[in-house]
Amino acid sequence: MNQVYQSQRQHFKNQRTPHISERLVLLQKLKKSIKNNEAAIIKAIYNDFKKPEFESLTTELLVVYKELNLFIKNLKKWQKPKKVSSDLINFPSSDYIYNVPWGHVLVISPWNYPFQLAITPIIGAIATGNTVVLKPSEYAPQTAQILEHILSEIFKAEHCQVIQGDAETADHLLDLKWDFVFFTGSVSVGKIISQKIAKHLTPHCLELGGKNPCIIDSTADLKLTAKRIAWGKFINAGQTCIAPDYLLVHHSVCKELAQHIKSSIQKFYGDQISLFDDYARIISPKHYKRLKKLMENHSLYSGGDFDDKELYIAPTLILNPDLKSDLMQEEIFGPLLPIISYETNDEIAEIVNSFDKPLALYVFSKDRGFQKEMTQNFDFGGGVINDTIVHFVNDKLPFGGVGNSGIGNYHGQFSFATFTRQKAIVHRKTYFDIPLKYPPYQSTGLFKKLLKFFR
Ligand code: NAD
Repeated sequence: MNQVYQSQRQHFKNQRTPHISERLVLLQKLKKSIKNNEAAIIKAIYNDFKKPEFESLTTELLVVYKELNLFIKNLKKWQKPKKVSSDLINFPSSDYIYNVPWGHVLVISPWNYPFQLAITPIIGAIATGNTVVLKPSEYAPQTAQILEHILSEIFKAEHCQVIQGDAETADHLLDLKWDFVFFTGSVSVGKIISQKIAKHLTPHCLELGGKNPCIIDSTADLKLTAKRIAWGKFINAGQTCIAPDYLLVHHSVCKELAQHIKSSIQKFYGDQISLFDDYARIISPKHYKRLKKLMENHSLYSGGDFDDKELYIAPTLILNPDLKSDLMQEEIFGPLLPIISYETNDEIAEIVNSFDKPLALYVFSKDRGFQKEMTQNFDFGGGVINDTIVHFVNDKLPFGGVGNSGIGNYHGQFSFATFTRQKAIVHRKTYFDIPLKYPPYQSTGLFKKLLKFFR
């Protein structure tokens, strides 16, 4: 670990930023290698938690290819120094903003989209000229292995290196001084990381989680709403940071919506979900036990089946659970969906505001006033009107949280901005030098007069 760390620091010091043409070649090579290893990537993710092939193609590979293509197409344009108008006080000068890499970056990634959430920040970090160490999650070991294989094929260790391990490994890595840390994971670990890197004042981006509300009023198209909620919630078996965590449904349509969601689940996965290939498993016995415990002591509206050996938990609907229960107090991050009925908008506000600011918020309604009220009255990372989780796919939108759900954002040009900093350069001209600023000060009277233009 120390050797890789030292060699990367030295590499950045010696070489500074690799030329843009070199970086573009590396991005092309990365794309080619991912293409060559597609089957192995899908197999690795499947072996880690039986993620269906279709979900790996769309939510892992497609997202990564889109990000690579975007960077390959736009890097030169984004990288260009920006000339800004100069200040009269500095006359004559030319003023520029340069986008420069932070230097030596540490990326720590989670297990739930184990390929995409590791590679997407790597693309941004490498494209912008940083050196990177990636610490993938120990809970998706096969994907960690393929990540290491792909990245070691393309990069020298002093440029980009995977270091596999668990929390202890991450903790050792965080003892070292980094120029930038990019972390995706839970709020609790985000706080630990934030404290650890504070000693070096390390700039960082934290992509965290939270309880994402999904609010449905009485005007929503219930059948379509149910379908879109069931899809966004149960893809990846609910192990999605932006999945709806709980529903707030107008009491007049609550039962009807629950019935439609139940029907959607049945249509998507059939009657014997545990035998169905297109439904993922829970990542580990630890996470499985936590989810099973969250289900306890609630009367279930539908689902609730499980299989200890398979780490399988069925899509499960829970009507009006106790708001003080663990199910409603912690981020669920699994296929359990509480459905809570409300009568007034004040009740919605009371429940949503009782939690920290979420990563995502969804509203289903045909009423523009209601859509506006829900999206403007609450603070959250990003959201969707009349669908769930799809804001993630538009790489022209920033992706990130606010407050407890994260600091900073990424994707596309926002990744470019996250992995660079803006360096200001004023290029003063030498053909002319206004003498007024130099001591002995003989222009105080003149400046007093000039100051009135600034008051
Ligand atoms: P986690 O926080 O348990 O682990 C994430 C990473 O941190 C792993 O690599 C792990 O090894 C490391 N880690 C664990 N404990 C550590 C410690 N004490 N010190 C340093 N590193 C440590 O998260 P997870 O279980 O892998 O992922 C689930 C969580 O991540 C959920 O809360 C989810 O909402 C969030 N998440 C957020 C996003 C996002 O983009 N905002 C995306 C995916 C997941």
